[in-house]
Amino acid sequence: MIYLCAISNIRSGACNEDCRFCTQSVKWGADIKRYKEKSIETIVKEAKLAKKNKASGFCLVTSGKSLDEKTLEYVCRAARAVKKEVDITIIACNGTADKESLKELKNAGVKIYNHNLETSREYYPKICSTHTWDERFETCENIKSAGLRLCCGGIFGMGESDEDIQSFIKSLKKLNPEGIPLNFFIENPKLPLKATHNKKFALDIVKKFAKEFQNSIIMLAGGREIAFGENWIDAIKKGANSIVIGDYLTTKGEKPDKDLEILIKEGFEIADEC
Ligand code: SF4
Repeated sequence: MIYLCAISNIRSGACNEDCRFCTQSVKWGADIKRYKEKSIETIVKEAKLAKKNKASGFCLVTSGKSLDEKTLEYVCRAARAVKKEVDITIIACNGTADKESLKELKNAGVKIYNHNLETSREYYPKICSTHTWDERFETCENIKSAGLRLCCGGIFGMGESDEDIQSFIKSLKKLNPEGIPLNFFIENPKLPLKATHNKKFALDIVKKFAKEFQNSIIMLAGGREIAFGENWIDAIKKGANSIVIGDYLTTKGEKPDKDLEILIKEGFEIADEC
């Protein structure tokens, strides 16, 4: 069974943090679309399209460090509007958050919250200096205690070592997320990092996570096309059981019908519930 998930970047490129892998940080000046709030009407339209493309999850993503009051109000409004019109699992991804705000999201119809640890605790200071890995871990704990389902993964190929990957897995085991998105770093001329992944490395990551987290959904997220090329289906055969369809936050993705065609041709069934 393969789970499809679509994401909508409802606030883009308005972040003062300095994550070295992220084009949405204003610090790096990457050439991306930047906007404060996508209209609710557009968000609902995108959710309908996601449903039509067989996605069972639809994720409302905002750039920025945390789920502050203004962001909370906006995401709740968007979630309520989607819930009213589209039968799809609503996911939110809005940065670090306290338990009370997460409970409000839940009341607005959000079922799952995505917050990635990104990498090991040891390596994190090398990729971000404006907030700590511990804050991220704490948010993941808040998500669970607020009664939301946790989706938590990371990004690979940023120069981290095998020990970092092992340490990251160990931390993730403490959180036991339901979904684990595996992102592979996408280079951008304005970003200070260079990608250190290739197809063999990416397939090994998939195999490792599928083996270590047999009860979680292993999702191929950002960088799927770059890490695996046209043969991304090999990663599904090695144990991944979910993909992000359509465009990513700031980069183009594959056309959803093309992905669907490949999955169906290979004999995979598409889940209609998340
Ligand atoms: S906090 Fe989020 S949006 Fe901001 S730079 Fe880091 S990854 Fe990007």
